[in-house]
Amino acid sequence: VVHTVKEMRALRKELGGPVAFVPTMGALHSGHLSLMADAASENTSVVASVFVNPTQFGPGEDFNRYPRQLDRDVALMRDAGSVSAVFAPSVEEMYPSKPAPHAFFVEPQGLRSNLESIARPGHFRGVATVVSKLFNIVQPDVAYFGQKDAIQCLLIQHMVRDLNFPVRVHISPTKREADGLAMSSRNAYLSADERRVAPTVYRSLQAAEAAFRGPQRERRVAALRSATLEVLEREPVLSVEYVSVADLATGLEVATDLVPESGALLSLAVRLGKTRLIDNVVLREREREQSKRKGEGDGAAADDVMWLWAML
Ligand code: AMP
Repeated sequence: VVHTVKEMRALRKELGGPVAFVPTMGALHSGHLSLMADAASENTSVVASVFVNPTQFGPGEDFNRYPRQLDRDVALMRDAGSVSAVFAPSVEEMYPSKPAPHAFFVEPQGLRSNLESIARPGHFRGVATVVSKLFNIVQPDVAYFGQKDAIQCLLIQHMVRDLNFPVRVHISPTKREADGLAMSSRNAYLSADERRVAPTVYRSLQAAEAAFRGPQRERRVAALRSATLEVLEREPVLSVEYVSVADLATGLEVATDLVPESGALLSLAVRLGKTRLIDNVVLREREREQSKRKGEGDGAAADDVMWLWAML
């Protein structure tokens, strides 16, 4: 475990390639560990970072109360055995205040009309900035991100292309609890009652997915959104921030009907008490039925992710 840029750079020189990188904000769960396992299975070395990045939190968001538990995270990574090095810098190390304050940022322009981007002003600027810095420090060959944060995946894909980072981006499928709730460090904020309601979020996405795939083959954006909202609205404690149907390649909202071959990302953000939850599914026509027939359990999910990756 290293804490400074200098130590990380020295360590990087010792690592055998290809080197994979898994950026996280810590409070690790099985979703993070599966990214690290994927990274280890395809690369010689894996670097993980643990950094709660202040620039991606807006005023009034949960930066101060975000769970910080580096010792536990390191123990989890040690037990899992997929990570060669952990970079856990301080805020001052990443954003020096002296002699002059840190003053350069990476400003994404393309996703400004995406609903997640609108809901969290400045968030993706903070993400793009910290990921750029981490890429420059760690210099990975490939970086692993989770589909759980699908718009973030798109953002990083676009950034790597537009700023010519020599990094390949890999997207791993969303890991879920047995009841469907997407794993997230923020799930720790949920009370027992809220936790019981939380699986409704994924169920609402599944309702739209069923309409998309079912006999009616629903392709109208308004109807897909209604199918999602109808399920969410059955739980009055859930307050919906947005339900988005966005083009998979551009991240921009689809206006009326889905084009069968290009597919879409159905994503949403809700508030459950003080906790903000996000989740998404990919809607598209695909060879899923094929992999199902062959009895490949996870074929469908993996197929979606690979396709998302291939699109970008
Ligand atoms: P975070 O620590 O929440 O910033 O997440 C670090 C990385 O783990 C990001 O690439 C996330 O998309 C990914 N991640 C978070 N939750 C999950 C999950 N449930 N399944 C798969 N990947 C995840």
